[in-house]
Amino acid sequence: MERYDIIIVGTGPAGVSAAITATIRKKKILLMGSSHLSSKVEKAHEILNYPGLPAVSGPDLQKALLGHLESMNIAITEEKVTLIYPMGDFFAVQTGNNNYEASAVILATGVVAGKPLPNEEEYLGRGVSYCATCDAALYKGKTVGIVGFSPKEEEEADFMTEYAAKVVYFPQYKEETHTRDNVEVIREKAAAIVPQGFKAGGLETAEGNTYSFDGVFILRDSVSPKQLIPGLEMDGNHVKAERDLSTNIPGCFVCGDIAGLPYQYIKSAGEGNVAALSAVKYLSK
Ligand SMILES: Cc1cc2nc3c(=O)[nH]c(=O)nc-3n(C[C@H](O)[C@H](O)[C@H](O)COP(=O)(O)OP(=O)(O)OC[C@H]3O[C@@H](n4cnc5c(N)ncnc54)[C@H](O)[C@@H]3O)c2cc1C
Repeated sequence: MERYDIIIVGTGPAGVSAAITATIRKKKILLMGSSHLSSKVEKAHEILNYPGLPAVSGPDLQKALLGHLESMNIAITEEKVTLIYPMGDFFAVQTGNNNYEASAVILATGVVAGKPLPNEEEYLGRGVSYCATCDAALYKGKTVGIVGFSPKEEEEADFMTEYAAKVVYFPQYKEETHTRDNVEVIREKAAAIVPQGFKAGGLETAEGNTYSFDGVFILRDSVSPKQLIPGLEMDGNHVKAERDLSTNIPGCFVCGDIAGLPYQYIKSAGEGNVAALSAVKYLSK
């Protein structure tokens, strides 16, 4: 399998900046995230504190960042990373459809909005999953609930109908849904995973209803870092990092919101640069 020098996960200001610096340092990189970069950039009304771009709007900053990537021929691989395994001298990076390898990884995934649902983390892998594409086959002929935090997750719900006997989709956003006819859509707020012995048995909603499922998929933009890389040391909601943005796992670096407060574009972009240079130094050893 082709091995990259650095896989960068996340396309906000932190990931984009890391990709630019690593490319300037002639590293073979893979930048994974979204062709829209980051909803936190795209949705900002007016940004007053990004040097050189006074009162820039989110969409204009997005355009500037995309233009910078394009000018350097840096492509975005539009896949969500679901798991990263440290394998000693390299990392195995898994997405819904593919596996990749890299000598170093930079996590720039932003912060996960909100807390996990009660029982979500406890039942992960036992009836709770974060990746429909990865685990759909396990639910052939079964009933599945899917909690989607953005419209792009509707594709995953549609895909699930090719395996499961029944798919119920719980959109956690305001936009109209456009799922296939055989996806039942319930507009209720997910409140908790319902345990059923060793396994998760369904979903409880804030409206006071309980739905029984063989599996519940929770699809957010971002996966908690400790779920992404087993053994990654955390400091509260953030990954514990040194000043050079290295973590407790050799070869794994972090930058941006995931590395701690304050949550700011320029801090994220600056840290992307530092993380890339630290990864380059690590690779030269
Ligand atoms: C409405 C709003 C306005 C703001 N205004 C300002 C402001 O005026 N000034 C300021 O300095 N800051 C502002 N902020 C804060 C700023 O948006 C964040 O600090 C900044 O976007 C963080 O950048 P980041 O690169 O760390 O992460 P993010 O911008 O959150 O980007 C993370 C990216 O990683 C992707 N990703 C996550 N997990 C995975 C995965 N497993 N696989 C692949 N991709 C993944 C996400 O989809 C996303 O594209 C604002 C935030 C919001 C929400």
